[in-house]
Amino acid sequence: MLALGRHALLAILVAGASTSSLAGPARPGYLAPVEHDGQVFPVARSNWYSVINFTNDWHEPRMRLVDGRWKQVGLHEGTDIFAEPGTPVLAVLGGHIEQAGWTFYSGWRVGIRGDDGNYWFYGHLQRPPAVAVGTRVEAGDEIGEVGNTGYGAKPGHKDEFTYHLHLGIQAPDGSWTNPYPLVSRLYRAALKGD
Ligand SMILES: [Zn+2]
Repeated sequence: MLALGRHALLAILVAGASTSSLAGPARPGYLAPVEHDGQVFPVARSNWYSVINFTNDWHEPRMRLVDGRWKQVGLHEGTDIFAEPGTPVLAVLGGHIEQAGWTFYSGWRVGIRGDDGNYWFYGHLQRPPAVAVGTRVEAGDEIGEVGNTGYGAKPGHKDEFTYHLHLGIQAPDGSWTNPYPLVSRLYRAALKGD
């Protein structure tokens, strides 16, 4: 700290939160994840061509299969982050893999019990998860790739919607909370951290 100039020190004090690049290697063609208060934006950004977008789609209507018929009766309990197929999906924070495999609506998914006690849900991944249940992951570790799997019973079912990551955050009491404010914060931090 003593080696820092006065302005650098002031900048840290004003920011009130730590933003730094992780030391871990990024996949070639993608930027190193930027850590903000121990968390990273869950979709890797590329340094060549990257389309990432998301809106506050919390509790928007979603189709559900009810007695063999599709009905718009579901509520969206997460944030959809649209990106190119195959884009690395990154763990927002450290934790342990709690679920990995197929679900009807979310397709290939990984669920992580975060160090904050919440359950972090990453859905519609392109391939069967390569991370085993019980494995420790750190913020910024690649846990899958953006895909469009799901909305079908047969593992691997895809192409029912555009490629995106579904991120859900479930509190220990089972309730889901809106990830959008956090996701927005992490994305802004990532852009500033370049
Ligand atoms: Zn979603």
